Order: sequence, then C-alpha cells, then structure tokens
Amino acid sequence: MNGLKIKRDKYKIYNTEEIQLIKESSLIVGKTLAEVAKRIAPGVPLIMLDRIAEEYIRAYNAEPSFKGYRGFPSTLCVSVNEVVVHGIPGNQILQDGDIVSVDCGVYKNGFHGDFAYTFPVGNVSEEKQLLMERTKKSLYLGIEQAKVGNTTGDIGNAIQRYVESFGYGVVRDLCGHGCGRNLHEFPEVENTGKPKQGVLLKQGMVICIEPMINRGTYKVKTEPDGWTVRTLDRKPSAHFEHQVALTETGTEILSSYEEIEVNMR
Ligand code: MG
Ligand code: MG
Repeated sequence: MNGLKIKRDKYKIYNTEEIQLIKESSLIVGKTLAEVAKRIAPGVPLIMLDRIAEEYIRAYNAEPSFKGYRGFPSTLCVSVNEVVVHGIPGNQILQDGDIVSVDCGVYKNGFHGDFAYTFPVGNVSEEKQLLMERTKKSLYLGIEQAKVGNTTGDIGNAIQRYVESFGYGVVRDLCGHGCGRNLHEFPEVENTGKPKQGVLLKQGMVICIEPMINRGTYKVKTEPDGWTVRTLDRKPSAHFEHQVALTETGTEILSSYEEIEVNMR
C-alpha cells in the first residue's frame, strides 16, 4: 500500500533487532504472495486470492496490515490492468491477458512487512510484458540509490529517468514510504525527483520503494469507492514494491521475490 500525508513525527530509526523483526513480517508477506502466485490464472475471482491470503497470514499468528487500515476492507490490494493500486478484491474474474498487481501487508511482533508484485495472467501482450519488466527493473535501479547519505530524490530520479525513456508515465499522486512500527511512516519516497533533493537517507531507516508505472499518462483518478486508483487514460499500469533497510553494513532488501517467482504459473 502507498503512503500519502505521512506525519513527520512518525519518522523512525530502527536497530538491528527491530530490523530483524520487520524482516520476519516481510518474509510472511513473501510466503503469502507465493501462495497467491500459485493461484493466479484465467477464471479465478479476485476475492478468492484475498481469502487465501488472509487465512495464510493468520496461520502464521500474524495479522493482515491492510484490513481495516483507514477502513480498507481487504487483506490484499488487487489491481488489474488500468487499476494502478488499492484495488478491492471482489467478484471480478481474472482474464487471459490481464496483468495484476498484488500488494500485501503483514503485522507481527509489532512490525509491518509490506511489498507487492505484478503478475501476468495467462498470455499477456508484449506491451504489458515490457511494462512489467521495466517497472521491476526501475525498482532495482531505485534500490541501488537507497543508501546512507543519498536522498529520496536520488531514488526517484533513477526510477523516473529509466521509465520515462520508454515514454511511460510515473504516478505522482502516490509514493513509497517508511515502514516498520507503522505501515506508513516518514519519509515519503517518491518515484520522481532530482538528485540530492528530498530527504537525506540515514542508517536505521526502513523504506518501501514502490514504482507505479503507467503505459500512458502519469495521471490517475480515484474511484468513488475511495480506494481504487485508475489511470486517467485507462492504459495499463504496473507496480512493484520492495522493503529495504539501511544498515551499518549496507542496504538490505528485507522482502524477497524468490518464492513468488518459483511458484508463478
Ligand atoms: Mg504495498
Ligand atoms: Mg507500500
């Protein structure tokens, strides 16, 4: 999930033990998304993915971070095609050729894990495949800039420069965020920016970097349900998110796509 209007007083620095606990929560997110990955196929209703995820998280004696957060009704954000993020999983059925972003948060031991992956459903067009691949690549380019002494602007700039070279639109209205004791903490991690601008990154920060990249315009609109964010031109959008910690030994990606990608159809 993405951060908006994050209060500066929620800015946190985490020690090694706390980062380990955040990693545990993030690990459960990864296992949950791997379970979801096994089921993603044409004909599957979105609500089924949500039920599986919630059961799975609770079996780990953990709680879904998103359910009830500011009134969000579900465990997962499931966002198909032109839905950028915050899709509410309902009776909609996955179709061959869709791309679907699944975003998951887990709360355990007082800490949140939060990350997301965009999946192809059946056979997707080359246009959508490239959008997913390049969005994922931009996330890793952003992570390369996520180090002590750099700024959030360095991260946003790396993402923006790469994806705009393909004519894609970088969503501005939503951003990444600090994440640990609270799901959304300072700093905001925008996916656009200028080098050396923004917030200085410090040792002990834990941030979620989550480029939301559109095939067309960067402009988005929130539906009347108050959550579902769509591209204004209804062209597809992809979303990848990792949770990273800035430690004394370097930047550690706490989340992992490994199990997800092993279990993808
Ligand atoms: Mg998320
Ligand atoms: Mg997030």
